[in-house]
Amino acid sequence: MCQSYKKNDLVTVTIEDIGTGGEGIGKVNGFTLFVKDAVVGDVVEARITLAKKQYAYARMEKLLKASPYRVEPRCPHHRRCGGCQIQALDYERQLVYKQQKVRNNLIRIGGFDSDCVDRVMEPIVGMEDPYRYRNKALYPVGTDREGHVVTGFYAGRTHTIVPSTECYLGAEVNKQILEIIVAHMEKYHVSAYDETTGRGLVRHILIRKGFNTGEIMVCLVINKEKGKEGIPQQAQLLSALSQIKGMTSVSVSINSEKTNVIMGKEIHILWGRGEIRDVIHVRDMGKEGYPYTGQELTFSISPLSFYQVNPIQTEKLYSLALEYADLTGREVLWDLYCGIGTISLFLAGKARQVCGVELIPQAIEDARANAERNGIDNAFFYVGKAEEVLPAFYAEKQGEDQLCRPDVMVVDPPRKGCDPLCLETMLQMRPDRIVYVSCDSATLARDLRILCDGGYELRRVRAVDQFGHTVHVEVASCLQRKD
Ligand code: SAH
Repeated sequence: MCQSYKKNDLVTVTIEDIGTGGEGIGKVNGFTLFVKDAVVGDVVEARITLAKKQYAYARMEKLLKASPYRVEPRCPHHRRCGGCQIQALDYERQLVYKQQKVRNNLIRIGGFDSDCVDRVMEPIVGMEDPYRYRNKALYPVGTDREGHVVTGFYAGRTHTIVPSTECYLGAEVNKQILEIIVAHMEKYHVSAYDETTGRGLVRHILIRKGFNTGEIMVCLVINKEKGKEGIPQQAQLLSALSQIKGMTSVSVSINSEKTNVIMGKEIHILWGRGEIRDVIHVRDMGKEGYPYTGQELTFSISPLSFYQVNPIQTEKLYSLALEYADLTGREVLWDLYCGIGTISLFLAGKARQVCGVELIPQAIEDARANAERNGIDNAFFYVGKAEEVLPAFYAEKQGEDQLCRPDVMVVDPPRKGCDPLCLETMLQMRPDRIVYVSCDSATLARDLRILCDGGYELRRVRAVDQFGHTVHVEVASCLQRKD
């Protein structure tokens, strides 16, 4: 019998599974409950927040029996913050969940049979320390009811700022930087941006740290006030920030639009260089402890460029991509969605020629500078959408360029996956191998199905946990052309 429930009902439920948003899933009389903050294995009393015919959303009200997988989260804000969804779940169990999530998506969305998936999937690569791993933080700035400047995080699914300068996923130095900026704003009456009126100066604070170089970048996103440049009493702020060990770059990004897009395209450097550098090492993923192979590259990263947020796990992810590409030095290949050319340049060291494609012009400027800095002259880059650049290249060259028939294509798209036109052109170009790196296993599964229906076989899949305590997981996969 499927009993119905209504809003505010209290229900006792045993949590049996984890949902896509990290919520606990349990069943009562055939009725499914998605319970926020409940951990798989818990028995909880839950209050219904939204009721539908066959299922309902609920909030954990009382923990009746704690799951063996339940741990004490380090962060006091974990329930309110939208950032970490599964911090109360033991890290080893988080990895099991992520491995299963990728497997299920390949089966359900990708239509791969479970035997095939179990044959090709290798064990997830976990983190040694799932805290303090993020090299990038973006803090919103606002004003509290008493008129004080606050920074912190948005409470889950809202734009209400919960004041907090400490995030255990980020670098320790972030707290010091935020405190300096907030104190400066208070002292000199620098206003915080107000989303509803569109008034006020400081909108967000971006902090990036090169974990292997110690270099730090601060970029204040500001709503340019008419006739004014930069931040009031800027010299004092820059003097305080520049004392921080590792500080390399302080800049502002101008964003005067009423929008949820955080960064404005116009960047002004206030102090130091316009970028920071970081070093990435290649690791041997076939050996225990993933030892360093001796190969490394240095990258410069500017405020608007994408750079993977977990540098330790990124080394493992890139090393897998490089291993899957299986290069001998003779290959010609593409790296689509290449960002600042990180994967491209590692590939270039082991191939004849690499061509990267990326949407953001600043990232391509970084990519070209990175190639030069590392003495790489066989990588070149196009700015544009992969789904436009690739078909245009293919049509224009009419098969006369070796890149029309590449040996390998690497793709690393954003969450929405590859555009159908991009996939279609890849199939026309018939590379021997495709290495697909993904941050969303659902769109990965969808795209792998299209590629397999187009003549490829799924050979290897390995998840890499880049985002501990969140429901997100990165995946590297490899396809081989059948004929
Ligand atoms: N491979 C890089 C970047 C991966 S993130 C790295 O590991 O650092 C995905 C990148 O795709 C971002 O840099 C984003 O700017 C870019 N991008 C988004 N849509 C795109 C499109 N349609 N065509 C090309 N690049 C795109």
